[in-house]
Amino acid sequence: MYDVRLKVSYVKGLAEGLEIEDEKVKKLMSEIINVLDEMAETINDLKITMDDTQEYVESIDEDLGELEEEFYDDDDDFDDYEDYDDFAYDDDEFDFNDEDFIETDCPNCHETVYIDEDFIDNGKAECPNCKTVIDFENMVNDKD
Ligand SMILES: [Zn+2]
Repeated sequence: MYDVRLKVSYVKGLAEGLEIEDEKVKKLMSEIINVLDEMAETINDLKITMDDTQEYVESIDEDLGELEEEFYDDDDDFDDYEDYDDFAYDDDEFDFNDEDFIETDCPNCHETVYIDEDFIDNGKAECPNCKTVIDFENMVNDKD
């Protein structure tokens, strides 16, 4: 793994190898290397903190994923319960506005009947009143 501190150590060794005579240049070089040293330490600390943070975020993401799974499962259960609740406490007739039911006039007995969408097979369903098979697709075509 690349570590900037190793690079600074290498530069420090190079500078010492130069055996600079001029004290001012030597002092400047030493200060520059000290600054590089501090920067390398800071970068290293930041990297460690960042790695920890990333690990932490990943674990939060994982936990959140589990919560979402549980939440949406529970949400489905809650909806089912809500439907049941409406059904049980509603003294009126069953709510025919429910989107799963289709309101239609039977072409045979002319009664207004409500067909559960689940019972419509290939556009056809039995009239609950007279048991005649209602062809929904032809009814739509007739209107055209
Ligand atoms: Zn009918």
